[in-house]
Amino acid sequence: MEETEYEKLLSVVVSVYNEEQALPEFYREASKVLKGLKWDYELIFVNDGSQDGSGKILDELSQEDLRVKVISFSRNFGHEAAMIAGLDYSQGDGIVCMDADLQHPPECLRAIAACFDEGYQVINMVRTKNEDAGLIKNVTSAAFYRLINAISDVHFEPNASDFFAVDKQAANVLRTSCREKVRFLRGYVQIIGFRKTTLPYEAKARVAGKSKYSLKKLFAFSVNTILCFSNMPLKLGIYAGMFSALLGLAVMLYTLFTRAGAPSGYATIVVLLCFMFAMLFVVVGIIGEYIAILFTELKDRPVYLVANTRNLKEGLEKGTKEPKQLK
Ligand code: UDP
Ligand code: MG
Repeated sequence: MEETEYEKLLSVVVSVYNEEQALPEFYREASKVLKGLKWDYELIFVNDGSQDGSGKILDELSQEDLRVKVISFSRNFGHEAAMIAGLDYSQGDGIVCMDADLQHPPECLRAIAACFDEGYQVINMVRTKNEDAGLIKNVTSAAFYRLINAISDVHFEPNASDFFAVDKQAANVLRTSCREKVRFLRGYVQIIGFRKTTLPYEAKARVAGKSKYSLKKLFAFSVNTILCFSNMPLKLGIYAGMFSALLGLAVMLYTLFTRAGAPSGYATIVVLLCFMFAMLFVVVGIIGEYIAILFTELKDRPVYLVANTRNLKEGLEKGTKEPKQLK
């Protein structure tokens, strides 16, 4: 090991869920790039309850290389929880969150380090191409961003990904002030401000294994995100109420002026009733969704539970710092 003291430490947080096929290659590629930087580094792998051989591979890597640190969850808590844990435990002056499947190319770490050197604090990686995403994923993703940008007062970059980098100050904001249970981490990264920039990258096809995000999961995630970043759905009740009142008024005036009596027919009544009730139930359902989110926040259950760690002491939250290791 070279005894060079680097001024700054780069923490690379990698979420891992059943990635035994991709991990060795990721480690090789990432280490190669990181060794060429003028930064010291730590590779923090967050094992999100993998059931395959990922845990074993990570154990071995952490024994061979002290820069490899591992946080193992007690069960699967999801990709975002893994990134949050990585942020909590990382000690770097710059922190990068990326996937283990090499869809986020490790070569980008060079450009990220260069941006940090220039003084940028938040670096959003923007996908220019996604080799893995099918038509449905692309169309639904575009629709989701269009909707959320229209109804919430923040602006999200449509092609932003879970690949981003933040400096210490921005990371502290994420650690302390963005701890919601129902959340959208990459959204927070875009709205916390600070000196920010974007870098383009091409999302490659996964090296191995398959995506863990099903369309169903993505749909649930999108609904929660819209509810968390916009109160507009809550106002739908008011609009629906006004619409019903106007409709009632129009029917009343029509009846009075044409002296046609009530609009005739059983069908009309049934259709109107169904329509009104449908509106009412949708609004009640939306309120229910917000209450569910409130309830989840109120219960305040942990975002993740750590079973064990390797080459790490305690998380930054506990205030214990590990002595810096040399490259
Ligand atoms: N991942 C995770 N926990 C999960 C699902 C995924 O830590 O519950 C990790 C996964 O190992 C990968 C990253 O999150 O490193 C992104 O997942 P994936 O590649 O399945 O998503 P996609 O790239 O298809 O959006
Ligand atoms: Mg992927």
